[in-house]
Amino acid sequence: MTEAVASRQPELINLLDLDREGLERFFAETLGEKRFRAHQLMKWMYHQHVTDFSQMTDVGKALRAKLEQHCEIRPPQVLFDKGSTDGTHKWLLGMDPSNAIEAVFIPDKGRGTLCVSSQVGCGLNCQFCSTATQGFNRNLSTAEIIGQVWTASKHLGNKTHHQRKLTNVVMMGMGEPLLNFDNVVRAMSLMRDDNGFGLANKRVTLSTAGLVPMIDKLSEVSDVSLAVSLHAPNDELRTELVPLNKKYPIAELMDACVRYALRKPRTSITFEYTMMKGVNDKPEHARALAKLMHKMDQQVQRQDSAKVNLIPFNPFTGTRFERSEEADIRTFQKILLDQKVLTMVRRTRGDDIDAACGQLKGQVLDRTRRQSEFKRKLEAQGVSDAAA
Ligand code: SAH
Repeated sequence: MTEAVASRQPELINLLDLDREGLERFFAETLGEKRFRAHQLMKWMYHQHVTDFSQMTDVGKALRAKLEQHCEIRPPQVLFDKGSTDGTHKWLLGMDPSNAIEAVFIPDKGRGTLCVSSQVGCGLNCQFCSTATQGFNRNLSTAEIIGQVWTASKHLGNKTHHQRKLTNVVMMGMGEPLLNFDNVVRAMSLMRDDNGFGLANKRVTLSTAGLVPMIDKLSEVSDVSLAVSLHAPNDELRTELVPLNKKYPIAELMDACVRYALRKPRTSITFEYTMMKGVNDKPEHARALAKLMHKMDQQVQRQDSAKVNLIPFNPFTGTRFERSEEADIRTFQKILLDQKVLTMVRRTRGDDIDAACGQLKGQVLDRTRRQSEFKRKLEAQGVSDAAA
């Protein structure tokens, strides 16, 4: 047995798993190198998208040999990618032989936003989200999270600090990022690092269903923007839509948001509100929501500390919900705007490739090809979304 262990190849360390501090420490403590060499390596990895140590021309031969012996730079495997007619691009990324997740790029005037997943599946069971239907499978590693940004950045020909195509990242794909705290925080730090993707703090957004203690923890270690999936202005309705509300009801959640906003004086918190027909889209809901937002502004002592993002519900197979009528969404927005609550309606993008919010549903690998082929056939016959 000892022999078998001794002869086994030691596992290579995937350098995409380490943030700047981790990489510096690895260079100093494991490789016996100067810490600044780590920065050189990061630039090759994140600015040039190079994964092969032999191409790193300004890294000495001896160090390259050491790196080859101990490490690898292994981004997720692109199983398939597809562009939408509106410029949205979606990748299906294989994380291990049986799990795949999706990442979506959404270009808009002057910016490009990548929607990134933090878990395979999700355990929170929000009633209107398609990811919930697949249950929770596992957390993604730091490499698997930053690897989504790396893949998109490479595909887009993104140049950090120069020709930025990828300007924003939102942790709004599959999963609850605050339930995969350490890996998500490390990945977000690489997104913001000058030697990483160099994004401004406010351009990296973490979206949560409302894990109160983790929101506090996040405020201690990170300066990213916070988005909170609210979806209802009262506990009865919210508990029905977001079961996590039973554990952390609205009052506690709003208090945590106030604490977050007080710690980050210049940022505002975005409250996401998915609009579902006849469920949460009535004028009385808008008025109750405005009250919540006002209360937060008062407590933070700043106008617009709370913003609202209305998301027209994106349907998926098997859901009992429907998208609100356009007129109801406008009325809802107007009530909020009239009460001086900054409120945007998110345009639905990437509909035709199932890349819209709540439609990201990574596939179990062995089903992937069969499903997409089946779906293509159905679409050709004019039937859509039947194979999800
Ligand atoms: N778990 C995190 C991040 C993933 S959800 C969170 O809850 O915030 C990202 C956003 O998409 C959330 O606001 C979520 O509520 C919204 N969403 C989920 N399903 C949706 C659907 N079917 N249509 C529109 N938005 C949806």
